[in-house]
Amino acid sequence: MSTTTLSHPGTRPLRDGAFGNAVHLVCRECGATTALGPSYACRECFGPLEVGYDYPALTREQVEAGPKNIWRYQQLLPVPADITASPNMEPGFTRLIRARNLGRALGIERLWVKDDSGNPTHSFKDRVVAVALSAAREFGSTVFACPSTGNLANAVAAAGARAGMKTVVLIPDNLERPKVVTTAVYGGTLVAVRGTYDDVNRLASEIAGEEDGWAFVNVNVRPYYAEGSKTLGYEVAEQLGWRLPQQVVIPVASGSQLTKVDKGFTELVRLGLVEDSPYRIFGAQASGCSPVATAFKDGHDVVRPVKPDTIAKSLAIGNPADGPYVLDVARRTGGAVEDVTDEEVREGIRLLARTEGVFAETAGGVTVATLKKLVESGRLDPDQETVVLNTGDGLKTLDAVADRVGPAATIDPSYSAFTAAGLV
Ligand SMILES: *Cc1c(COP(=O)(O)O)cnc(C)c1O
Ligand SMILES: [Zn+2]
Repeated sequence: MSTTTLSHPGTRPLRDGAFGNAVHLVCRECGATTALGPSYACRECFGPLEVGYDYPALTREQVEAGPKNIWRYQQLLPVPADITASPNMEPGFTRLIRARNLGRALGIERLWVKDDSGNPTHSFKDRVVAVALSAAREFGSTVFACPSTGNLANAVAAAGARAGMKTVVLIPDNLERPKVVTTAVYGGTLVAVRGTYDDVNRLASEIAGEEDGWAFVNVNVRPYYAEGSKTLGYEVAEQLGWRLPQQVVIPVASGSQLTKVDKGFTELVRLGLVEDSPYRIFGAQASGCSPVATAFKDGHDVVRPVKPDTIAKSLAIGNPADGPYVLDVARRTGGAVEDVTDEEVREGIRLLARTEGVFAETAGGVTVATLKKLVESGRLDPDQETVVLNTGDGLKTLDAVADRVGPAATIDPSYSAFTAAGLV
């Protein structure tokens, strides 16, 4: 942590309005504020910083008149009003589908799937990277970088390419091959590191501590990056007709997404854009990497790091930075954090595909399987309106189900062969 003040992702003087309605960074531990800039750790206590705002008066009509992507919420993000003038991705406004069949299978009356596989690089990471890119640009960063469990690698490589920035992406060397290919194709420098994600993340912090001008989206630009996840909460509420759902199930890797969906809901209430109604937030992890679920069940405030061993690689963070805040949100809202086995993850992927025609990656399998487990154990109320997030695309993790599904038969191209196979 002592290296945090030694280097910076950029030192360009900030433009007026570079961060829109954001006014400062505030420590999530001690509440100390600091000027907007390339900082991520509190000078007083080393706690993580987050973005604070001077909230505008914002109406539903104003939002609805905006572009059909996350920039419709520009006023609630640390990005300039002219955000759409510079090359960036246009993620978000992904579909929210009514999941009647899955709901019937699980006994949940009003169930929705928020399908973030529809983003530019097919995961929710495009949201956070787009906001981080804007910050990196304002800081004058020269390198756009990240340590990644896979989806972030895709999003950083693609957004950096579009913005014409030099990218450096660090991944564990055991990543699914599709995620390697779909990162490398965008050019830039892709480095496979022998170790777990947590080793890769440590290396990134070390590089960030030594090299000036490097914007590691989820390390030294993390306060800005994290804000992008709020748009998931905004969209769910807007797509429900400006209403908060009663229950939400969210996958947990570092835990940032889950805590920011909660922040997004809170802001909508504060701005009067939705009615103040109670909601419960549930976290989902794979049993092979479930440090937050374990802490939740044990009643602990501290999350003890683990060494991941699961097919849900996009969630395989053994030492989650936002773990304690996930515990806070789950406990405060009356939710829970639960975990499911890899076998249940594979089943979850197939269940969602067969009932709703949505092919999720392993993280989506984790979330659907957790939803099932929560409702079966009586902790999720089947009579309340529920939203489950699918955060990534099954095409990137084909191996998870490849040996379970396939053609019913291989036949010669004749009608008699077809009927002889006895398929219909
Ligand atoms: C990164 C990721 C998550 C979780 O993100 P955190 O904010 O780190 O908890 C969930 N789903 C997918 C597909 C991801 O790639
Ligand atoms: Zn502090």
